Amino acid sequence: MAASIHLVRAGLRVLCIEADIPDTQPVGESLDWSAPELLAAVGLPMQRLIDEGLATWKRHVTLRLADGSATHYIPGEWLGQPPFNVELRTLHVDRVQLNATVHEIALQTSVRILHDRVTEVENRGRAVISVTTANGTRITSPWFIDASGASARLFPRTFNLPVSDYGPHKVAIWTYFAVSESVEGTTLYAEGDCPGYMDWVWEIPIHPDTLSIGYVSPGEHIKALRSAGSTTDDIFRTQLGRFPRFREPLKSVPEISANVTSYRCRVHRHIFGPNWLVAGEAAAMVDPMTSNGVTAALRHASEAAALIIKYRNRSRLPWLAAAMYSRRVQDLARFFNCGIEKVIYDAPIRNRIGIKTAGDVYTIPAWSLNNVYSRIRPSGVVSSLFFGLLLGLFRTAATFYYAICKHEHAPCEAAG
Ligand SMILES: Cc1cc2nc3c(=O)[nH]c(=O)nc-3n(C[C@H](O)[C@H](O)[C@H](O)COP(=O)(O)OP(=O)(O)OC[C@H]3O[C@@H](n4cnc5c(N)ncnc54)[C@H](O)[C@@H]3O)c2cc1C
Repeated sequence: MAASIHLVRAGLRVLCIEADIPDTQPVGESLDWSAPELLAAVGLPMQRLIDEGLATWKRHVTLRLADGSATHYIPGEWLGQPPFNVELRTLHVDRVQLNATVHEIALQTSVRILHDRVTEVENRGRAVISVTTANGTRITSPWFIDASGASARLFPRTFNLPVSDYGPHKVAIWTYFAVSESVEGTTLYAEGDCPGYMDWVWEIPIHPDTLSIGYVSPGEHIKALRSAGSTTDDIFRTQLGRFPRFREPLKSVPEISANVTSYRCRVHRHIFGPNWLVAGEAAAMVDPMTSNGVTAALRHASEAAALIIKYRNRSRLPWLAAAMYSRRVQDLARFFNCGIEKVIYDAPIRNRIGIKTAGDVYTIPAWSLNNVYSRIRPSGVVSSLFFGLLLGLFRTAATFYYAICKHEHAPCEAAG
């Protein structure tokens, strides 16, 4: 929808096909520091989101361990001063309300919206000719953007695009709690005493009096608990109950109606064709802990739309320009996924340096490079390749250090 808004504003006629999949609760509530600028570009500046009650301020991320100790990750004050002038606040959003508002902006901007589901993609070689919906409508267009999300991945499946997976299948279980007060930040909860692969809990105040609380765990772990007879409610309660913060709120909620989703972080390559591009999670799914999913989707929307706008009078996208778009999407997603898997989720580095330091080792490069990307906005061949190289260096460093830690056995692993 964001891509449609950008395209219509540049004078193109756009049809946005939206499946409106029933019974799905949208996620993506804790935004990183690059999201506000991208939201403003579709007509949603931070102050409007706050004033209209769609968002709350996010000033930091806190990691809280089961023993009650906490570490705060806060963007450095110096970033807010010249010459950087980085906005030190970002947002938590109510996704139902945000999606509805973006939908409204799309309609006001004259995006035509078809509430239907694409079931078929007709192609000739690498070109997309038409898409057909469940209701039998066939739609032809000179240009297509696939933003169908991680489950559908319409064009990656049609063209069997190469893909890399990161980490195991994961399951998220989440619900919303009413509270009397909340903090202006996202809190992550985890065990501190060297577990194997990490599971964690998020606390996101989507309104001053409403918390989104979610538990994320490898799918295999949930499967084992389900096989042993636990219901989703049991699992959720038990996992939250490890942290003192949730014991009281849990007592006051006799029945939890939790949302459940499963996903796998993955990154597709070659996400372009002569007349199409893939954007958002259909192209690459980054782990929720990175808080980069919404930024990535809005960024792809803006960059994919800019490419189509620039080359609208040609019959096809220039190969190099589309390939650079694909590289940027892929390089950033690989950087985030590789960093979070190797430094935080998996045990070797985390156990060797401790979870709090591992948090710094991940957040400092991740937040800085995400910010640098927003500042320099690589779009040409040189800037895209240079940025890719920079991200690749960090990925290689993480992989190398991971291998060393794994080889030398982290102290906690060795202890038992
Ligand atoms: C558990 C979890 C927690 C997350 N937490 C965060 C977070 O805190 N912060 C963050 O930034 N990101 C987070 N994310 C990621 C974030 O939700 C997504 O990256 C973000 O919503 C952007 O997704 P998207 O627009 O690409 O896809 P989606 O939001 O999945 O949208 C895809 C759209 O395509 C439509 N569609 C699907 N199939 C078809 C079809 N066949 N025809 C027509 N339409 C179709 C769907 O109806 C939907 O509207 C989280 C993800 C998960 C799974």
